[in-house]
Amino acid sequence: MSFDQLQAELDQRKRDHLYRRRRVLESAQGPEVQVDGRRFLAFCSNDYLGLANHPEVIAAMRDGAARYGVGGGGPHLVNGHSAAHHELEDALAEFTGRERVLLFSTGYMANLGAINALLGKQDAIFQDRLNHASLLDAGLLSGARFQRYLHNDADSLAQRLAKADARRKLVVTDGVFSMDGDLADLPGLALVARQQGAWLMVDDAHGFGCIGRGGRGIVDHFGLGNDEVPVLVGTLGKAFGTAGAFVAGSETLIETLIQLARTYIYTTSMPPAVACATLASLRLLEREDWRRERLNSLIARFRNGCRQLGLEVMDSPTPIQPILVGESGKAMAMSAALEAQGIFVSAIRPPTVPAGSARLRVTLSAEHSDEQLDRLLDALDKARGMTA
Ligand code: PMP
Repeated sequence: MSFDQLQAELDQRKRDHLYRRRRVLESAQGPEVQVDGRRFLAFCSNDYLGLANHPEVIAAMRDGAARYGVGGGGPHLVNGHSAAHHELEDALAEFTGRERVLLFSTGYMANLGAINALLGKQDAIFQDRLNHASLLDAGLLSGARFQRYLHNDADSLAQRLAKADARRKLVVTDGVFSMDGDLADLPGLALVARQQGAWLMVDDAHGFGCIGRGGRGIVDHFGLGNDEVPVLVGTLGKAFGTAGAFVAGSETLIETLIQLARTYIYTTSMPPAVACATLASLRLLEREDWRRERLNSLIARFRNGCRQLGLEVMDSPTPIQPILVGESGKAMAMSAALEAQGIFVSAIRPPTVPAGSARLRVTLSAEHSDEQLDRLLDALDKARGMTA
């Protein structure tokens, strides 16, 4: 059997401006990066607090590797659960105010593992229609009845929940929506979930570290806790600057995941040195409030600048500041026009976002300077002219 059909599909993707390409990064993360031999100012990393390249985090990883070696050596339940993992779990439990935390190797795996441990065919899952792909995939894999509600719309959720007849009902939402940057209406969703006897699970991949008291995330931001949001997911590859993820919750939840979550049981643990680096990130994040303050001042400066230029930014109070463009071809042209000016911003296209809503996903980091931000605004203005 030949691959002609696959090649034809790839060619069609190119014609539709939907072809995805990797770029080879030749430097560390940071406001300035080297890609394909050229220096760029980068506004597309999820390293929101600038910790991915922090000397203390790097030193902790180096020391961790010297002590534990490089690899995890096996799954957590066999031989791969080190003192470094254990210490990080305890520290994250304290930080999130939960009884326990369980580490996963990636956020994708945390979502897949948690949802599939909690739900089966007799159950029902309710997801915001803009939830991250890993949550949607997890829901489909679970075999539970799957429903999407309108974006951030507690009434739409309530209508669907009221009609559902299931053993367990799980409502799932991104905390900060990854491609839009807006915050989930957690108070509204939590109220509806409680009234309808459903659990609420929040994936706070992009809020954890950035919002809430001391960076405790969106649940803290809204003054909620374990009663309202019994299943909390955080990822470590974004504001924490390292890699991996965790689920936080009650003793019963975590023990259930240890027994049933297949992406926890059947995979090698994250390298212990990554756990050491993450603990160093957590300590920095706790100590250095200025990183969040700096980020907030950059967010305000960027939004203000866009407003003055008449650029359509989305309703986001977070470091994710997408500029809505519409057509995929136009978003690609804008991204290329920025690149020509030495600025790296990725274009996000369907199916990652709904058709007709392609955008430039600008992300800000506490390490960006005002001058760098102003260069971005100027380049965006020129890019608009170049692609009009
Ligand atoms: N959840 C959300 C909301 C995300 O944006 C992402 C990553 N982009 C993930 C989960 C997956 O996390 P990881 O990259 O650690 O697999």
